[in-house]
Amino acid sequence: MKDDHYLLLTPGPLTTTDTVKETMLKDWCTWDTDYNSLVQSIRSSLLHIAGVSETSYTSVLMQGSGTFSVESVITTGVPDDGNLLVIVNGAYGQRIVSIAERVGINVSSLVFEETARPEPDILSTYLSDNPSITHVAVVHCETTTGMLNPINEIASVVNSHNKTFIVDAMSSFGGMDLPVTEMNIDYLISSANKCIQGVPGFGFVLARRDVLSQCRGQARSLSLDLYDQWESLESNDGKWRFTSPTHTVRAFRQALTELEKEGGVQARYYRYHTNQRTLVNGMRKLGFTPLLPDELQSPVITPFYYPEDPSFDFDRFYEKLKSHGFVIYPGKADNSQTFRVGNIGSIYPSDIEELLEAVEKSMYWKQAAL
Ligand SMILES: *Cc1c(COP(=O)(O)O)cnc(C)c1O
Repeated sequence: MKDDHYLLLTPGPLTTTDTVKETMLKDWCTWDTDYNSLVQSIRSSLLHIAGVSETSYTSVLMQGSGTFSVESVITTGVPDDGNLLVIVNGAYGQRIVSIAERVGINVSSLVFEETARPEPDILSTYLSDNPSITHVAVVHCETTTGMLNPINEIASVVNSHNKTFIVDAMSSFGGMDLPVTEMNIDYLISSANKCIQGVPGFGFVLARRDVLSQCRGQARSLSLDLYDQWESLESNDGKWRFTSPTHTVRAFRQALTELEKEGGVQARYYRYHTNQRTLVNGMRKLGFTPLLPDELQSPVITPFYYPEDPSFDFDRFYEKLKSHGFVIYPGKADNSQTFRVGNIGSIYPSDIEELLEAVEKSMYWKQAAL
């Protein structure tokens, strides 16, 4: 593969297996029962992975990239007299605020430094001082920095204040354990092309049935109406309202089967974790410094500071790495110059070892100094 292409070390779309890609060689009909039963099996697999019961939770698939699913939850789930609080410590938290503002939903944010953990105590105080808040949204793994937010503690605070709890678990679902029932998450959002290792084209929402069932007629958009989408899937045995991304859905079914074969979420977490440790240890040896301390870092994606050498140029480094068969990701942190390396996808520790060799060969600023 690497002879004519490159590995994506990015947080989605990411490197997928050949077997996932091969399933897309067949065409499917969106109203045929073969296809619709595939959709139904995906919906129940997602609940199974989350460890939630089918009586309390349901799953809804939604066309578009992950942001479309986030938007469908926010713009369907928060009523006109609702009041949304978003915990923000990166670009994806900020995006939820923008989604709400765009349609005039009452929204406020509790902003923390990008490199700092959101403080559950501050959240608790904020909720006590602002009893009109009805919904709280947070990003689980903030892909901006790779930080894993303290979701358990945040969940207890949100639950003790009795708020509807929305979690953007886009870059973590399927790649690490998330006790959805214990944390009493009302809406969990993720997408096809992250830790499940499918190809892009749709996202999905796991929702508490009793919560979603109260949202009829509340959406501000026709195509992103999560309730209507759910109703169609439920009453038509897996038929989407509008054209669904059939090839992507078929590939996702294969990706779910491969997740199971790998040994489930635990096994996948272990592989990602090993990738990440291998990466950071190797990069430190080469003189790079990660943005986050190890204890705040998720196994999903790792930002590194630019080297201090004034001749370092990200684009040049990127092109050199690409010529060696690896594509990395630009930084997204606000206050620091960083680049990011993703650890998720069909990527193994041996790939990371090869990446490290490629990084060493691509450090042109060192070579110039010799
Ligand atoms: C990837 C991602 C999204 C969705 O991004 P899209 O580009 O719309 O797929 C949202 N939140 C987080 C935390 C993400 O990592």
